[in-house]
Amino acid sequence: MHALADCHIHSELCGHAKGTPDEMVQAIVDAGLFGAVMTEHLPLKPELDPDGVYSMRGDIDLLYVAELRDIRFDWDGLNLVIGAEADWISTDVAWTHESVRNAREKGIEVVLGSVHFLDGWAFDDPAQIEIWESKVVEEVWDHYFTEWCKAAQSGLFDVMAHPDLVRKFGHVTRNADEYYDEASRVAAGAGVLCEVSTAGLRKPVGQLYPDSLMIELLIQRGVGLTMGSDAHAPEEVAYRFDECVKVLYGLGARQVAYPQRERRVTWLEL
Ligand SMILES: [Zn+2]
Ligand SMILES: [Zn+2]
Repeated sequence: MHALADCHIHSELCGHAKGTPDEMVQAIVDAGLFGAVMTEHLPLKPELDPDGVYSMRGDIDLLYVAELRDIRFDWDGLNLVIGAEADWISTDVAWTHESVRNAREKGIEVVLGSVHFLDGWAFDDPAQIEIWESKVVEEVWDHYFTEWCKAAQSGLFDVMAHPDLVRKFGHVTRNADEYYDEASRVAAGAGVLCEVSTAGLRKPVGQLYPDSLMIELLIQRGVGLTMGSDAHAPEEVAYRFDECVKVLYGLGARQVAYPQRERRVTWLEL
């Protein structure tokens, strides 16, 4: 078993996952990982999450950071980074900046950047999938990657999560290669890490995020890659990491990044 880190894990605090923070940490230990980053969804604007099912509520320092600090204290030798997943809100970039600044001030050590919303549409939510029928796939891709590139260049994020999430339900534009080329170029220029997510393996698309072409371009351009399961239940921690390692190695990667506080990175050999 390689010494790996799962850099994308949720808990029940976000309102749509199973498992307390303690149970998720037990799963991290049971998986034999070198380390992990807990990455709960930062609180969203109420109008984007009226039912409280997308993100954690309340004071992140009291509710979340304090609990993980206690866990880290209790588990001797546990390599655990207190992170969070932030939403790039294209319609209110100032809010996005404030959300991330506030999170870091309250003790969040690593921030994942995610595009889940396009003009308020949660395009990856199964409950909103019918909206895809009224869309042109290439236009959605164009919108998605325009915002993804802005997010990658914003300097706000340590890691760009699930880089081609727009593919979740299998919607792929004919000229996908052009988007992967541009996105990997932007990530390299911005010096941001990119995630390879095994969550896509258990979604309709049935493949890693991002597509292997984008992974290859990221490797060629020297972009550091993290591995994440996007676990929403204890049994999903380190989900199919062995397969992911094989793919990464086959595409030329020899190490993966394990982000730490203050933008430091621990490199793990594959
Ligand atoms: Zn996400
Ligand atoms: Zn996530």
